[in-house]
Amino acid sequence: DCANGLHLQAPWLLNCAGAWAGTVAAQFGEPVPMTSAHPAMLVTEPLPIVMNVSTGVEGGGIYARQVARGNCILGGGRGFALGPRQARPGHAAVLEILRNAGELYPFLKGAQAIRTWSGTEGYLPDHEPVIGPSSTQPGLLHGFGFAGAGFQLGPAVGEALAEIVCTGASRQPIEAFSIRRFQA
Ligand SMILES: Cc1cc2nc3c(=O)[nH]c(=O)nc-3n(C[C@H](O)[C@H](O)[C@H](O)COP(=O)(O)OP(=O)(O)OC[C@H]3O[C@@H](n4cnc5c(N)ncnc54)[C@H](O)[C@@H]3O)c2cc1C
Repeated sequence: DCANGLHLQAPWLLNCAGAWAGTVAAQFGEPVPMTSAHPAMLVTEPLPIVMNVSTGVEGGGIYARQVARGNCILGGGRGFALGPRQARPGHAAVLEILRNAGELYPFLKGAQAIRTWSGTEGYLPDHEPVIGPSSTQPGLLHGFGFAGAGFQLGPAVGEALAEIVCTGASRQPIEAFSIRRFQA
């Protein structure tokens, strides 16, 4: 039942509420130690094409890809929250990205950054997502906590959750991602 008196009923509920999914899980009596973080990003002016694959340093705080128009999209470091729904990359993270970019990608030395941004993303302490059935509520499925990797993981997680809804089970083993790992 909603605060405005609306009563909703469905055979399945998918908790895919991103950084806010912990609030939903807690409403069903299974709180998780979720935190929010804010990846910092920037995009350069269009430059001659140098690379056509996404590259970066794993754990090294810098990654980049170049779009067909020549702009380079760079990420690295963390920004900060303006509030529960908005975030900014911050000067320090932007300068760090530009410094690292000049070292790793010499063609980017002196490039103009034309825009910067961030966003709000949910993290669990082990940096792995929660995927699969609720331990308290039949019909509730969780898919959240993608720790900065949800574009990569989202399609496969969506498929696993769709299989549970349509056939009762996921073809891939997902037990390791159960929400139960955070219960005492
Ligand atoms: C700046 C930035 C750069 C990133 N770069 C990459 C990258 O290069 N590669 C990569 O793989 N991942 C990247 N990510 C991570 C990726 O964006 C996320 O992992 C992914 O968007 C998570 O998808 P989601 O659907 O779980 O959550 P979200 O995309 O956050 O969507 C959750 C939705 O649920 C809604 N919601 C919340 N609460 C409720 C509620 N109670 N009822 C109804 N709706 C609700 C929210 O409004 C939101 O629309 C990046 C993230 C950021 C912020």
